[in-house]
Amino acid sequence: MATDYDEVRSDVKETQENSLEALQSANAPDARSVVQELDEADGLDGAGVPGGEFIAEELIVQVIPQANDEFTCSSCFLVRHRSQIARQSGNDIYCTDCEG
Ligand SMILES: [Zn+2]
Repeated sequence: MATDYDEVRSDVKETQENSLEALQSANAPDARSVVQELDEADGLDGAGVPGGEFIAEELIVQVIPQANDEFTCSSCFLVRHRSQIARQSGNDIYCTDCEG
């Protein structure tokens, strides 16, 4: 029984941390405005959290493997096609955007 209790607690904690991270990284301005609205409304619940579903989508980060014909810019760290290489210095490759 004690083991089951611990498992439930860790799951809940993980979920809360994920939600916090999502709010802080992806939706911080909205989160602040929500707090302000709640303060002003004072007791009017049912407003919900705007963008709740949006936050869930933001948590899904697709990691796309770098293909052979792609490179990672050493300045903006975006993966780009090799046709966008503007300058190469040793192991550092810079894209056309960064080299302007
Ligand atoms: Zn770049």
